[in-house]
Amino acid sequence: MTEFGLIDFAARLFADVDRHGWEAIGDDCTVLDIGGGEVVALTTDMLVEGVHFLRDAASPQELGHKALAVNLSDVAAMGLRPVATLLSVALPKGMEDKWARGFIEGYSDLSHREGVALVGGDTTSSEVSIAINVVAIGRGPASHVKRRSAACAGDEVFVAGELGASALGLADILAGRTDTGYAAIHRNPEAQTAEGAWLGGRSEVHAMMDLSDGLASDLMHILRASSCGAEIDVETIPAVGGDVRAAVCGGEDYKLLLTAAGERAETLQRDFGVEFGRELYRVGRIVAAEPRIRWIEHGMEIHPDWHGFVHF
Ligand code: ADP
Ligand code: MG
Repeated sequence: MTEFGLIDFAARLFADVDRHGWEAIGDDCTVLDIGGGEVVALTTDMLVEGVHFLRDAASPQELGHKALAVNLSDVAAMGLRPVATLLSVALPKGMEDKWARGFIEGYSDLSHREGVALVGGDTTSSEVSIAINVVAIGRGPASHVKRRSAACAGDEVFVAGELGASALGLADILAGRTDTGYAAIHRNPEAQTAEGAWLGGRSEVHAMMDLSDGLASDLMHILRASSCGAEIDVETIPAVGGDVRAAVCGGEDYKLLLTAAGERAETLQRDFGVEFGRELYRVGRIVAAEPRIRWIEHGMEIHPDWHGFVHF
C-alpha cells in the first residue's frame, strides 16, 4: 500500500465517526472553529533516524530546529500563526545527555524566534533509532484559513520562494559534501511563518499549502482537492542553480504554494515585495480541466517524467 493509499484507507474507515467540529483528513492542518471568529489548527509530523536524517550528518541543534520548522510550515500553509507545540522524543538507551540537550536547545531557539510555546509532549526510549514527533498548534481568524480545496479556474499559481536548494543539499550530503551552502539549507529549513500569516489576510489568495514533497506532487493535491487543472510555465519556475528537476521533484523546500484571483495577481505580487523585500513568483494558472499539470515551455506543452518525492 502506498502512503496515500494508507491515508485514504484511514479516512474511509473513519468517515462515519463524528469529528466534533474538526475538519476531515486532507489538508496541512485540521481546523476547529472556536467561536468569536477564531479557529485553532493542529498538525503533526514525524522525523525518524535513517529515514529523515542521519545522526552523523546533522547536529542535534539542527535536528531540533528542523523538527519544529517542518511543523510550523504546515501551520503557515493554512494562513495562520503557530502559537504552541507538543514535542515527543524516543531516544536510544545509553545516548549521551549532550545530544538530547543540544536537540532541545535547537528546538528552543527557533521556538523563541517564532514566539511559540512548548506546552507538552512525551519522552521515551527506543532500541536503536531516534524518533521525533511534533504537534503544532495554530490560531487566527477563521476568515484567514486557506484550504487546498479553494483553487478556481482563472487563478494564478505562485510560489513564495526559490525551489530546489534542499534537494541539491541532500545530493551534496549523500555524496559526502556536508559543508556546502545547499547542505546547510537542507539541514536548516525555514518555515515561511510570516509569509503564511500575511497571505492568510489576503482575500484574493484562494488555495495554499506548503511544498514538502515537490511542486510536481504537491500541486496535484490542490488540483485534486479543487477539481481543476493547472498550466505551469516551466521557464518561470524559480529553480535554484537553474536545476528545474530539483525544483519540481525535490522535497523539503517548505516554500508556500498558492493560487490567487488572476485580476489581483499583480497587486498581490507588488504588496508581497513591499512587505518582504522578496519576490512572489508567478509560475502558471489554474484552468477548468481534470486534475492534471500541463507543463508549458515557451508556449509548447512538454511531457517530462517529473514526479515528487514519495515516502513508500
Ligand atoms: P503534509 O505533507 O502537509 O504534512 P501529508 O502528505 O503528510 O501532509 O498528509 C496528507 C493528509 O493526510 C494530511 O491531512 C494529514 O494530516 C493526513 N495524514 C497523514 N498520515 C495520516 C495518518 N496516519 N492518519 C490520519 N491522517 C493522516
Ligand atoms: Mg504540508
